[in-house]
Amino acid sequence: MNTILRIAVQKSGRLSESSLDLIRECGIRFSNGGGKLMSSAQNFPLEFLFLRDDDIPGYVADGVADIGIVGENELVEKEKDVSLVKRLGFSKCRLSLAIPKSENYEGLKNFESKSIATSYPNILASFLQKEGIKADIHEISGSVEIAPGIGLADAICDIVSSGSTLLTNGLKEVEVIFKSEAVLVANNTLSPEKNEILKQLLFRIDAVQAGSNNKYILLNAPNDKLDLIISLLPGMKSPTVLPLATAGWSSIHSVITEDEFWERIQKLRQAGAEGILIVPIEKMIL
Ligand code: ATP
Ligand code: MG
Repeated sequence: MNTILRIAVQKSGRLSESSLDLIRECGIRFSNGGGKLMSSAQNFPLEFLFLRDDDIPGYVADGVADIGIVGENELVEKEKDVSLVKRLGFSKCRLSLAIPKSENYEGLKNFESKSIATSYPNILASFLQKEGIKADIHEISGSVEIAPGIGLADAICDIVSSGSTLLTNGLKEVEVIFKSEAVLVANNTLSPEKNEILKQLLFRIDAVQAGSNNKYILLNAPNDKLDLIISLLPGMKSPTVLPLATAGWSSIHSVITEDEFWERIQKLRQAGAEGILIVPIEKMIL
């Protein structure tokens, strides 16, 4: 029988869509309609298991799933024996301590002997221990932000992205204790056949990530400025230079990273580049 790699992804929530989009961008076709628990890819040896995110580290550790996509916060909290294979760069958020808005905050000592409600008791306990703070941790599984308002705890430790949920509950963020993003995890004892499929999948993920981190750039330049302009455009090997029909001018093609994009464009314009076109790259194989 042909080997199939089984991936656990969140059934519905803040990770689901981006996880499935990434797999689709890898050219893998599948259907995930009808709230099914499982699904198979049509053109790649991959099978999906749709789960609650809390269960993903455990299922991967036990080998029920071979790999999984989960928030780093859940991965670290659950303390399961799995390997972190790749950071995926989406579903970025932070785990923060928050206290009632009206209170003065003077530093971590504010939390000494206080009670803190959280769904992340392990991450919080190791943070407090590292900082030498003794506090009571109240583990609750949801709606953590209402705990201070109903008198259940003095403070909370919860996931924050914009902070608006905190504000509507009369809280303010005072310390970030953990930064998270989606990660790809794998079982520690994958068979060589499954490892080979994982390698192929990672090759595709790398190509998708490199593609979205880079842009293809085309521009026109007078030939007497070519050297200067080329020095501003490293390219994958070096830029392509093609003559234009107009004498004394060339077209230059290259690749630039998203991070340095605007800065480079400014310099290129100052150096005499004209007619600059920026085109998205779908996949990039390094
Ligand atoms: P489940 O029903 O699967 O247990 P959940 O309610 O525990 O879902 P979600 O709110 O869907 O979890 O969040 C899933 C993950 O997405 C979190 O563990 C975290 O890594 C990330 N995340 C949470 N909130 C945000 C946010 N506001 N912005 C970006 N990422 C977030
Ligand atoms: Mg959950």
